[in-house]
Amino acid sequence: MTFYFTLNTGSSSVKFALYKAMEEPELFISGCIERLGPSARLKMQAPDGDIQQELGQVDHASAVVTIFAKVEPYLKGRSVVGIGHRIVHGGNAFYKPTELTTNVVEELEQLVPLAPLHQPYSLSTIRAAKQVFPGVLQIGCFDTAFHAGHTFSNDAFAIPRRFYEEGVRRYGFHGLSFDYISSEMRREYPHVADGRLVIAHLGNGASMCAVENGRSVNASTSFSAVDGLPMGTRCGRLDPGVMLYLMQEKKLPADEIEAIIYRQSGLLGLSEESSDMRVLEQSDALFAKQAINYYCYQIRREVGAMAASLKGIDALVFSAGIGENSAHVRAKVCEPLEFLGISIDPEKNKANAPEIGTGPVPVFIIPTNEEQVIARAVAQACTKARQC
Ligand code: ADP
Repeated sequence: MTFYFTLNTGSSSVKFALYKAMEEPELFISGCIERLGPSARLKMQAPDGDIQQELGQVDHASAVVTIFAKVEPYLKGRSVVGIGHRIVHGGNAFYKPTELTTNVVEELEQLVPLAPLHQPYSLSTIRAAKQVFPGVLQIGCFDTAFHAGHTFSNDAFAIPRRFYEEGVRRYGFHGLSFDYISSEMRREYPHVADGRLVIAHLGNGASMCAVENGRSVNASTSFSAVDGLPMGTRCGRLDPGVMLYLMQEKKLPADEIEAIIYRQSGLLGLSEESSDMRVLEQSDALFAKQAINYYCYQIRREVGAMAASLKGIDALVFSAGIGENSAHVRAKVCEPLEFLGISIDPEKNKANAPEIGTGPVPVFIIPTNEEQVIARAVAQACTKARQC
């Protein structure tokens, strides 16, 4: 028995998973180091039970060493033969899983200006993993890749053409999640999987995707992962005039504007209470209710836009923390959508049942699993390289 490793690096956490190496990789251990910095914490689901441990100082560069030290005892001398990394930005060059050779890593460094808040963290994990696992096949899986086939109308902004040429495009994100959900649709609901799907990934980050025949046609995120839906702390779609106002009238520097739109907005900014949907649903405060109303309204609006870009809708899918667990949000999104053929059964909705629709357009809840998509890509690459 050999293993695949997956690494998913965020701004303050590194999620990891160890899979038994097989054609459809089987999860063996999963976990996360969160709160990277002076008081990092490990959470791990291991074969002998769940582990939580305060780690002290761990940063992005040292996280991989720490993770490997924690999982190594479970390997019992068996080896890791492939490692998959989630990489936020693949630019125009990377639209399928790619071996992370020295040249490729250099090319990915050139994309840092397109994703300055995320790409450097992925790169630091890749470099660390290359040191911890010298000679092991390393594969990059890109969040932008699933959206690579968009038409010009869904790929461009209407600003002078030269910016498009230099890469200012609507890339779209959360592609690994949409890829997984599309594959699950094919497995579980083959009668609709090739139809026109509107998928709502509603986690701390949130976005929507229109999928037809298993391919992305439109995405709500665009140049950055801050566009589209409001999120836990990100603002979502914003008139660029607001940015000009913040710069010219309020004289705010770029880093303060970045903090506003990425970390102080969305559910947190509107509620002035929390970015966590569970907290807002429990709250009696007017601002919390308004935040939820705004959130659901924007999702509904996006369902309409996605359905228009697909020329119809054959299924609606909810996923990620809020999409999978919040009956309240799903009901508020779906109730006014009866005109599209969407309605839901209150009891099934409350129970988070896999299929909750009652109208002509089925409504599904599909738990997402980005790590599985990465592990599958590693399995395919290993088979191809005959290294396993
Ligand atoms: P991330 O994007 O960090 O992976 P998740 O997919 O875990 O985020 O989603 C986190 C969000 O899911 C939070 O807003 C959290 O409140 C929400 N959530 C999780 N469980 C529930 C629940 N039972 N009811 C409502 N919201 C929930």
